[in-house]
Amino acid sequence: MELIIGSHVSFSSKEQLLGSVNEALSYNANTFMFYTGSTQSTQRSVINEELTYEAYKKMVEGGINSSNVIVHAPYIVNFANRKDEDKYIFYVNFFSEELSRVKTLGFDKIVLHPGSAVNCSREEGLKNISDAINLVFEKTSETKILLEFMAGKGNELGTSIDELKQIIDNIKDKERIRVCLDTCHMNDSGIDINDFDSFLDSFDSKIGISYISCVHVNDSKNIIGSHKDRHENIGYGTIGFDALNKVVHNERLKGIPFILETPWVNRNEKDEYPPYKFEIDNFRKEKFIDFIQ
Ligand code: FE
Ligand code: FE
Ligand code: ZN
Repeated sequence: MELIIGSHVSFSSKEQLLGSVNEALSYNANTFMFYTGSTQSTQRSVINEELTYEAYKKMVEGGINSSNVIVHAPYIVNFANRKDEDKYIFYVNFFSEELSRVKTLGFDKIVLHPGSAVNCSREEGLKNISDAINLVFEKTSETKILLEFMAGKGNELGTSIDELKQIIDNIKDKERIRVCLDTCHMNDSGIDINDFDSFLDSFDSKIGISYISCVHVNDSKNIIGSHKDRHENIGYGTIGFDALNKVVHNERLKGIPFILETPWVNRNEKDEYPPYKFEIDNFRKEKFIDFIQ
């Protein structure tokens, strides 16, 4: 089976999905991830059917299967915080519309940062997240929510298998809830990426490996257990190319999409350029070639 790998790409109001697909194809990717608008606001443009149609034509030509494409929710959604009920419901409605947008675009997966325990205990925060997702599922159909494994920066929730399990346990429609791993976040939360199979064993016994529907592949600027969440280019961080290459080619994760969220390169005051074409190529060839001069 072919490796399914891509990166996050932009989704502009002007070119919408067509721009995203063109960007992904320029990296020789066979999948991609995008935000349907700003990561920091709830403003969204109306989806242009013609652009979507053109984008699908290109996806078919370029070998991108829509079932591997991932949408990412904006960061402003924090379902852990239920101090203000009106606000909580506002975000339930906004996120429900976001799920409908995902469906309109022909995709079925949206990644969500579970939330941050502000104004509440971790216990309460986790319950608030499950409750919000149950409400969102009542208002929508089909689209799956992928809970992202977080670094544990500040009061971030979903920073261990147990916390993710606690959220999932309280969700009624298990068919629509899945997990998105993130190697930088896992490293920063204290998990050794060199021993990925032990992590998978533990994940499998507590949640079930079939719940892993996507992996964000990032190196980390910080040491294991730092709770920082700063992504680094593949092979230039504390995790390293070999450990990450083993994740990407792990037999037990065959067939799921791997998404790069590494930073653009701007070393030596040169122009910024995206690293994804090089990083994808290195993973396909399973050989690290230095692409930053
Ligand atoms: Fe994320
Ligand atoms: Fe991520
Ligand atoms: Zn991150």
